Amino acid sequence: MSERRKKAKAGERGISDLLRRMHDVVAAVASAQERLDKLTAAIASHVDSDVCSIYLRQPSDELELYSTIGLNLEAVHKTRLKWGEGLVGVVAKSQQPLVTSEAPLHPNFAYRPETGEDPLHSFLGVPLIRSGKSLGVLVLQNRASRRYTDEEVGAAQAVAILLAEIAASGELFDPHTTAEVGEMLHRPEWFAGQGVVPGVAFGRAAFHEPPTPKHKVFARDAELEAKRLEDGLSRLQASVEAMLSNSALEDAPREVLETYRLFAYDRGWNERMRAATRSGLTAEAAVEQVQLENRARMAQIKDPYLRERMHDLDDLSNRLLRHLSGESAAPAVLPDEAILFARTLGPAALLEYDRGKLRGLIVGEASATSHVAIVARSLGIPFVSGFVNALSIAEEGDEVVIDGDLGEVHIRPTQEIADSFREKRALQTQQKAALAAERELPSVSRDGVSVDLLMNVGIPLDMAHLESTGALGVGLFRTELQFLIGAQLPRAGVQQKLYGEILEQAAGKPVVFRTADLGGDKAAAYMQRREEANPAMGWRGMRMAVDRPGLFRPQMRALIAAAAGKELNVLFPMITVAREIDAARALLNREIEFRKRRGREMPSAIRLGVMIETPAAAWRIGEFADRVDFLSIGGNDLAQFYFAADRDSEMMRRRYDPLEPGFLSFIARIAGAADAAGKPLTFCGEQSADILMAAALVGVGVRRFSSPASAIGPFRRLVRSLDIGELSAWVRERIDEPQRPLRGEFEKFLVSKGAALS
Ligand code: PEP
Ligand code: MG
Repeated sequence: MSERRKKAKAGERGISDLLRRMHDVVAAVASAQERLDKLTAAIASHVDSDVCSIYLRQPSDELELYSTIGLNLEAVHKTRLKWGEGLVGVVAKSQQPLVTSEAPLHPNFAYRPETGEDPLHSFLGVPLIRSGKSLGVLVLQNRASRRYTDEEVGAAQAVAILLAEIAASGELFDPHTTAEVGEMLHRPEWFAGQGVVPGVAFGRAAFHEPPTPKHKVFARDAELEAKRLEDGLSRLQASVEAMLSNSALEDAPREVLETYRLFAYDRGWNERMRAATRSGLTAEAAVEQVQLENRARMAQIKDPYLRERMHDLDDLSNRLLRHLSGESAAPAVLPDEAILFARTLGPAALLEYDRGKLRGLIVGEASATSHVAIVARSLGIPFVSGFVNALSIAEEGDEVVIDGDLGEVHIRPTQEIADSFREKRALQTQQKAALAAERELPSVSRDGVSVDLLMNVGIPLDMAHLESTGALGVGLFRTELQFLIGAQLPRAGVQQKLYGEILEQAAGKPVVFRTADLGGDKAAAYMQRREEANPAMGWRGMRMAVDRPGLFRPQMRALIAAAAGKELNVLFPMITVAREIDAARALLNREIEFRKRRGREMPSAIRLGVMIETPAAAWRIGEFADRVDFLSIGGNDLAQFYFAADRDSEMMRRRYDPLEPGFLSFIARIAGAADAAGKPLTFCGEQSADILMAAALVGVGVRRFSSPASAIGPFRRLVRSLDIGELSAWVRERIDEPQRPLRGEFEKFLVSKGAALS
């Protein structure tokens, strides 16, 4: 046996000894405080740490030192830290372990002289979580500056599961405090997070990951637990297979489920759980322990794609727990008006819920570009993200209001709060109905200028909005999403089927297929990953496509075949210099010739466009225009490179407002150059969803837009309320002026002219 393996085996035995000792302590008759002190002593004597302390959450939300070995005993029941204060507060609030070899240097370190912690350097804190709530924190500290190993963190987490169970029993508080803690956990709360899908929704809290049924932590019979785990895994695998063959899920991207299958059979994951059962845990506790380790890893991963995959794994762990408890692993049955809370949620899991009952979504962590957000947007479900805490505060059935515009969540709202949101929702419903009624109206200004409004599409579900919004067509179909969700490169046949269906659903309206903008942070699992410091400026888009014809050519083949007999519009992303167009065009031509030679039906026309997403491309519009049939401004990337500000960075989000003379004059120049070259130009960045920015872009001469579906109705109404001649004069007068924010002034001008801004 290798040294490493021997060590791991010894570690497993160690944890199981400790857990057994803890088990004996819990079983002995003693007061809650005595029991806690004995547990602290057992843990301290077992682990290589100078201090072992337990902090418990109080009615005030403070964390009180309840028991310690190693700190001054006078500090017990005296030292308190606020929620989020000090390292202990951070652990409780974030519900994540915190490990540092130099605690005093940590930005959140809070010094408490009464504890006598001066000589301590290293810190390991794990939260005591029960039913999604942080009930306290277990802390290990050492004088030496040392690194705690993954095994030690894992052991601390296993111990924390048991401690949380004792804390949840309420035996550690007097009855008055127990009542107060209960009240504290049920007061009205609100959170400000991130709006992902707009809209106001009311409903009752339902949990995607229902609190796992109570289960034992220690195994009486390790072999039996190992067998239970294997049975659970087999049932999980069978259920994923069943999901895949369920024809009711046809419209869900199949590839998403394929990823689940991949994980369900993942050897590394299965093996780590097996090891945990060998260390003396029950099958359920083993799954939870590995899940906690994964969540800790997830917190450190920056790559959005990998994070999404870790979320999928978290989802599978929950399913496995439900299989082990004998509950059905089917999604929870939703109450009639459900606001679904999830720590993480995969798009497949979302699609499994009854859409008729789902009113809103709160996901601890999800970005606006995550797959689950894209699906929720397609379904029109208001969605907010950005707070894991909301999950620990709400309880099943609690009244909840969410506002996807403001990114707010109100749990158990007061009457006044609920009333004001009801009013807002009523207003929104009226506006929506009014906008839908206007979908047939021409998007022409008061002075007779026509502005074409098309729609951005990410997944096939979006196509339903083509009719409801009255969009003229699809101005941007982001094909790479199909590449990202799969476990393997989608074959040309699979791609062809999708593109064919999209054209079918478009029913004659034009569709612009943007070729896969892969690479950088949009790396598919099967692609060889390259570390790049600045992936947005790295090997992506057409750069990758021309270097890897194996990726690009099957897509061209699929597009040409899918559009047989119809018009095909192909758009190349991330072009920087004209010769990249020539290289891509040559590859496209080879596929055209290939199909012609085989005598197959061709598209009735093939039109080619390029995206203007880099300042280099914007500077040479004429050269580009000569080579293509149409141009498209990718405003998201163009603004990112113009301001040199990462579009995904939270810190940069509001730093530069594109509604300023410099950026607007830049767009005016592009629009003028496209016009001079006689090539149609579409603006397809998300900025057109901002009504003031949409007006400004019209003001600088853009006449064709592709926008998210929800932005089209308000945009049409805006155009119909404008005198574009007057608007253009106002904007053009200012774009050559020195740089300054124009937003406030511009809004006043538009309001004074009676423009429809909402
Ligand atoms: C853009 O950059 O504006 C664009 C439309 O492409 P994406 O957002 O997919 O990068
Ligand atoms: Mg782009």
